[in-house]
Amino acid sequence: MTYQNFSLKQLQEIDGAHHLHPFTDHKDLRAAGTRIITRADGPFIYDSEGNELLDGMAGLWCVNVGYGRHELAEAAYAQMKELPYYNSFFRCSTPTPVLLSRKLAEIAPAGVKQVFYGSSGSESNDTALRLVRHYWALEGKPEKTIIVSRRSAYHGSTVAGASLGGMAAMHSQLGAPVPGIVHAMAPYAFELSLPGESEHDFGVRAARSVEDAILEAGPQNVAAFIGEPVMGAGGVKIPPASYWPEIQRICRKYDVLLMLDEVITGYGRTGAWFAAQSMGIEPDTITTAKALTSGYQPLSALLVGDRIASTVIEKGGEFYHGYTYSGHPVACAVALANLEIIEKEGLIERVRDDTGPYFRKSLMERLAGHGIVGEVRTIGLMGAIEIVKDKETRERFPGDGAAAVVVRDHAIANGMMLRATGDTMILSPPLIWTRSTIDMAADRIAKALDLAEADLRK
Ligand code: PMP
Repeated sequence: MTYQNFSLKQLQEIDGAHHLHPFTDHKDLRAAGTRIITRADGPFIYDSEGNELLDGMAGLWCVNVGYGRHELAEAAYAQMKELPYYNSFFRCSTPTPVLLSRKLAEIAPAGVKQVFYGSSGSESNDTALRLVRHYWALEGKPEKTIIVSRRSAYHGSTVAGASLGGMAAMHSQLGAPVPGIVHAMAPYAFELSLPGESEHDFGVRAARSVEDAILEAGPQNVAAFIGEPVMGAGGVKIPPASYWPEIQRICRKYDVLLMLDEVITGYGRTGAWFAAQSMGIEPDTITTAKALTSGYQPLSALLVGDRIASTVIEKGGEFYHGYTYSGHPVACAVALANLEIIEKEGLIERVRDDTGPYFRKSLMERLAGHGIVGEVRTIGLMGAIEIVKDKETRERFPGDGAAAVVVRDHAIANGMMLRATGDTMILSPPLIWTRSTIDMAADRIAKALDLAEADLRK
């Protein structure tokens, strides 16, 4: 049975009858009708009606090598024929997770050499939470259990992921969150800096709110701090340069582990393999997923630093945790082939030296001056455009994010897929974008902003 035998309307009806989508108002979706994406190639996706869209989100922050990579399909096919699955429980493994672990240790920041696999970012954050608590128990400090996170953080949608995250709406539906998680301030200068406060001072103040949380809980009770180097789903919130060094200092001072969530920033997005390297952070754990396979297979990898790994290995004792698909041989084969493409094509250097700087220049020149744009910010190939009613006062349009949805809908109608989160438009394109793809995106977004402004000021 192939989908080509179905009309869009039929697919939408069946979708409405049987399919509950993630992060969706199910009533609203049924009224609007699902957009069905049927194929993709390079930087473009195509819907069932043949419309071509430039994919400004790399799927969902993941398709870093772009679409249509036959090498990845072939790696999966070859592995499936040879050995589709075997587990890595009871003293077994298969070759591809073994080799992938060595590769990850080679590209990871210094002092990070062990890997624990899952199938999603959420799962790997569950692993990270369990592992840091296990570590402190092994160290004879079982009271060190509290994790400090931040408001607006996104760490996944499992119960632990949502508890670690700082999304108020998610917490409202969580019932009982995982105990022992507290939230400090987000490093979001656009909304939270004080009048006249410098970027530097704001960054230090935001980091000190983490210190306050540690002191309030009692440092002897705090296991770790967790943070995305750049908050992604929360709106591409890029912290000032003063933020991470201060966080690092605070973690060291109180002997609090540093957990980085690089599910979005990992594997090239900021112009280095990991943002830890581009931003000079020395983490104890790094959660990664998404671009590890460029989304061609579900796979996540928690990278574990020497401090935790040596305790876990030397002290021994079983870590009662793991997934059927931890180290899935097919997903790991695809990851190996994906990392090879990133390396062979120099995609990371390209982001660092060429397309990243050009992306910033282009968005700044073309969009920052627009009447409804309050700020444009970028790092590597990720960017945010703040939508405001008043550029000077940063007053937002009424409707809590409704204005950004208007921009998004015009963008999509003009061949540009980008995402709205709150009042922020976000971009996270495949790393294969060239200068001309960036120009194309800037043109389409500029047009969408013009059309949206006309609607919004009516
Ligand atoms: N952490 C971060 C920073 C993420 O952006 C995401 C997903 N967007 C997750 C964790 C959860 O990953 P997954 O959806 O694969 O569970």
